[in-house]
Amino acid sequence: MADSGAPSTVEVLQTDSWEEALALKGAHPEAVPIAGGTDLMVELNFDRARPRVILDLTRIPELTEWGPENGRLRVGAGVTYARLIAELGDRLPGLAIASRTVGSPQIRNRGTIGGNLGTASPAGDGLPPLFASDAEVELASSAGTRRIAVGEFVTGPKQNCLADDELIAAFHIVPADGPQEFAKIGTRNAMVIAVCSLALAIWPDRRSVAACIGSAGPTPIRTSEAERFIAGVLDEHDLWSSRRPVPAAALDRFGELVEHAARPIDDVRGTARYRHHALGVLGRRTLTWAWEAYRCG
Ligand SMILES: Cc1cc2nc3c(=O)[nH]c(=O)nc-3n(C[C@H](O)[C@H](O)[C@H](O)COP(=O)(O)OP(=O)(O)OC[C@H]3O[C@@H](n4cnc5c(N)ncnc54)[C@H](O)[C@@H]3O)c2cc1C
Repeated sequence: MADSGAPSTVEVLQTDSWEEALALKGAHPEAVPIAGGTDLMVELNFDRARPRVILDLTRIPELTEWGPENGRLRVGAGVTYARLIAELGDRLPGLAIASRTVGSPQIRNRGTIGGNLGTASPAGDGLPPLFASDAEVELASSAGTRRIAVGEFVTGPKQNCLADDELIAAFHIVPADGPQEFAKIGTRNAMVIAVCSLALAIWPDRRSVAACIGSAGPTPIRTSEAERFIAGVLDEHDLWSSRRPVPAAALDRFGELVEHAARPIDDVRGTARYRHHALGVLGRRTLTWAWEAYRCG
């Protein structure tokens, strides 16, 4: 009989201690962590991955905790979408809106933001809001912890800079001080991978607007030129204080610059041309919604 090369047994490492989990990862660098399993189990079921060792992180209480830390929020990697929506929706509205678009209730009950970071898919819906908030990812090993900007953590399509002995412990994020939006285009209303998406955050305290494109490039893409442009318009017309509407021409230009920032490809979900066009619309739309909320706030 031909040997498929797949291991006949899988060793599952389990612990309820964070320190022990880090020690196990150090001792078994090949071990694949599992949190909600909503990405990993699909890989296993389709025979795209056959890990010899799996490290179960579901029993570790520290990963499911969140709280304030030095003016930011520290959110454990094991916090699920359902909990993020219920417990942090007021402080992280952009991430909560994105979380509501993830899968189904079952997926939101199991799936974690840490798992979204671990998979690092350009279509991961949790990522654009993290990018638009300049979140940092906390990585840990037995040797210590390090924090890295999420934009540096994600290094390519489904690639990140986790070392073999590291686990994602948490992410650190500034709570919203203004309106945030997330809009996603899919081929149907729910249970859909984004054709493209856009997260947008208004930061009145620092008088800036941040936006990040999802699913239209190898990684999520910050829209730096569009952000600089709109910050200039808001300052020049004193719109932060007057709270008057953003001029229509500026909304259009913002949309164009968002569109130009995208680096999409043609694939089964949509063409590059459609994604460019759609992102221009999402740019105008999310800025309009968020600025309207700021004006009324
Ligand atoms: C039906 C269905 C619908 C879906 N819909 C969406 C959707 O709409 N939007 C979306 O973005 N995603 C969607 N997903 C994908 C998935 O639910 C998300 O990516 C989710 O965030 C994965 O989290 P998890 O906890 O299940 O990760 P897991 O599957 O447990 O892990 C995912 C990856 O991250 C690694 N990992 C997990 N935790 C850690 C850690 N603490 N440290 C280091 N590595 C870690 C794992 O080793 C693995 O490589 C869907 C999946 C399914 C099956």
